[in-house]
Amino acid sequence: MGETADVVVIGAGAMGCSIAFHLARAGAGRVLVLDKGGICSGMTYRSGALVRLHYTNPHEARLALKAYEYFHHWEDLVGGACGFQQTGFLFVVGQEQVAALRHNVAMLRTLGVDTEVVSPEDVREAQPFARVDDIGAAAYEPHSGYADPVKTTLSFAAAAQRYGAEFRTSCPVTAIRVAGGRVRGVDTAAGPIDAGAVVCAAGPWAPALLRTAGIEFSIRPVLAEVVYFRRPPETALGHMVYIDRAAGSYFRPADGRMTFVGAGHGEPRLGDPDHLLDRNTPGQEELARARIAARIPAYQAAAYTYGHQGVYDMSEDGKAVLDRAPGVEGLFIAGGFSGTGFKKSPAVGLVMSELVLGREPSVPIHAFRFTRFAEGEPIRGEHEYGFVESAQLSI
Ligand SMILES: Cc1cc2nc3c(=O)[nH]c(=O)nc-3n(C[C@H](O)[C@H](O)[C@H](O)COP(=O)(O)OP(=O)(O)OC[C@H]3O[C@@H](n4cnc5c(N)ncnc54)[C@H](O)[C@@H]3O)c2cc1C
Repeated sequence: MGETADVVVIGAGAMGCSIAFHLARAGAGRVLVLDKGGICSGMTYRSGALVRLHYTNPHEARLALKAYEYFHHWEDLVGGACGFQQTGFLFVVGQEQVAALRHNVAMLRTLGVDTEVVSPEDVREAQPFARVDDIGAAAYEPHSGYADPVKTTLSFAAAAQRYGAEFRTSCPVTAIRVAGGRVRGVDTAAGPIDAGAVVCAAGPWAPALLRTAGIEFSIRPVLAEVVYFRRPPETALGHMVYIDRAAGSYFRPADGRMTFVGAGHGEPRLGDPDHLLDRNTPGQEELARARIAARIPAYQAAAYTYGHQGVYDMSEDGKAVLDRAPGVEGLFIAGGFSGTGFKKSPAVGLVMSELVLGREPSVPIHAFRFTRFAEGEPIRGEHEYGFVESAQLSI
């Protein structure tokens, strides 16, 4: 007899490990996580791991808010450590987007998000090293910050294993097996595995896998490159996490007195998730330096350390798909996170486990349905800022 599992999870990134943890904890039977590489060897490893709540639509904000509970109470809810650092967060806009910012902050406050609109002078007072003359306003979140994406994922995996989930690494899934409109399991390089349910959490690799089950999942692998600088004396003791729409970057403190900066490429490019560089391409250091120095001038002279590339799994509306696969019973998709999935991973694991187990999701996910694009109902906030592809700012 071949191998069997109750649920196979494809992918051991933040999503797959969180899904496995929640499934195993809920008693879903034999939960088997398969990854073609190691645990946290995909895009999660390359993530900025900003943990914030500023969104332009309530659907994503609710997921981020649910996940927030985990980051703030990790030891109790998961066990181990996620490396969460509560630095405070600023979402910075120019004058032309102040009205949208005010609407979004008001919307977020109705959901229970602790956030307020602050003036350029307030920013300057809190962060004396920041230049503020181009700022219209900022949304401030005192309890936001960033986490360690590797610790978070390994911690989910360890907790999943404590509840009995099994992990198999260096085990590529070559196909999702479907017969009679139902998922039957997966084929792997080491042989077939029968399963009653399969969850595809394969990040930017998801389209190729889902195609083997007859599902066309439309996402684009958009290249994202990040740069680390040594923090100059002005920010040596730290700074807040920023998404800076006015100057076109996002940045946060990083271990070893460094600052992690995402600043795009000028022009959007597609990337190959199997061939990403662990260094920067020519011009990237200069671009990132110019963008962060536009906000904190001391970075003009900051020492460059290193950088790396990643890809965003961009969906058509820049929002995730959390759903059953249409027409294939027992197949589930958690993908298309569009460069903003990490912070939601605890909540994604929770709602996906509930979906698999036929329970009502704790956070509404109807808006994230697979068919919304064909139905002409993409997720759009009433006051969107727009995805600045050239700056890799997903919001
Ligand atoms: C540079 C960068 C910065 C980011 N910054 C932020 C941020 O600040 N905040 C935020 O919230 N989000 C951020 N994101 C997005 C976030 O990191 C992702 O949304 C999240 O990590 C996705 O997790 P995942 O588990 O879906 O994918 P992944 O981590 O990519 O995991 C997918 C896994 O599937 C495995 N796999 C693929 N194909 C197969 C197969 N055939 N068989 C077996 N296994 C397979 C891969 O090996 C991989 O381990 C950023 C992303 C990037 C690239």
